[in-house]
Formats: sequence, C-alpha cells, structure tokens
Amino acid sequence: MLDEVLEHNQRFVAEHQLSPLSHLPRRRTAVVTCMDCRLVGLLEQALGLERGDVVELRTAGATVAVPGREGEGVNSDLVRSLAGAIYLLGVREVLVIGHTNCGLAHVDPAALTGSMQALGVEPQDLIERYGLGDQAGLVRWLGAFSQVEENVREVVHFIRNSPFLPRLPVHGLVIDVVSGKLELVDRDTRPGLAS
Ligand SMILES: [Zn+2]
Repeated sequence: MLDEVLEHNQRFVAEHQLSPLSHLPRRRTAVVTCMDCRLVGLLEQALGLERGDVVELRTAGATVAVPGREGEGVNSDLVRSLAGAIYLLGVREVLVIGHTNCGLAHVDPAALTGSMQALGVEPQDLIERYGLGDQAGLVRWLGAFSQVEENVREVVHFIRNSPFLPRLPVHGLVIDVVSGKLELVDRDTRPGLAS
C-alpha cells in the first residue's frame, strides 16, 4: 500500500494546484463519526461537506473511550480534540454520527480474543494487567455497543456534560452506509442554546 500511495501522490501533486484554505472550519461544526471505510467520501457527499467546511473526528464506532466514558473526559482523546476544535478553531456545533452495520456493534468476545491471540497479543494478560475484569471488560474497553442509536445518545450525553466543553448544540444522528440516508436520533433543544 505505501508504495502505491507514494506513486499516486507524485502524480497528484504534479496534476493539481490547490488553493490555500483557512484552518478554521467555515461552517463552525465538528462531526464525530466512525472510522468505517465505507464512510470515507460518502459522509462528506451525503452531508454536503466541502474541504474546509468542518472538523472531522473519527473513532472506532464513534464512541468515547472507556474509562473516559465513565469519568468526565480528562483522559478522553475525543474530548481533547473537541476542546481544540471549539476553543482554538471556532467550532460552535457538534454532530455525532453513528452508522448502520458498524463493526463495533455486537462484537463477539471470542472472535476478538481469538484475533488478538492469532496476532501474538495475549488478552488475558491485558485484562489482568489493566484491571479490565474479564472478556466483557475487554469488549467495553474497545468501545463495543449493541445498539447504534443508544450509543449515539450516550456519546451526545457525554459531550454535552463534559466540564471541559462549553454549552453548545450537540446533535445525534445515524447514517445508513448503503443509502447515505441520515436519521436524526437526538436534536439538541436544550433551552438557552444559541442557534
Ligand atoms: Zn463503525
């Protein structure tokens, strides 16, 4: 893959003259979504996003890492990134977008531990060393969930309540990876929010 990328890049740079853009997102929005490969390109098209419009933050499953999820976000990379986007880049609205058919939904603990072992990582050692409890704890560490809408609501709730972040509209959605259709799961209507 590396050599293919380098080869393509030489042609790209030779053929394209890009105009410089501001690093401040034009539409003052952060989009929190999943790392799923089917969202690459589709998400932007389906939402009508151009280069320079928004900040995109991608995590496995669009989840907040545990144990950050149980705390208030001091150890959360997602909260840290949102803080940067809000305080340094002028973001004033957040969209959390989960998706259908997510690889983090319904994770089979046996398949997970089997895959780790096949790649030379011993799950039981990690569970003991980091106090994860058991296989289910390992699955929680990964951020796995059973219901995408529920996960989106939890992440929205977490962002709205992090003391590191100001009061600003945080909405939850789910995108269909086949059709690109968005379903609104949680529109932020808390009183006192600037629109
Ligand atoms: Zn996903």
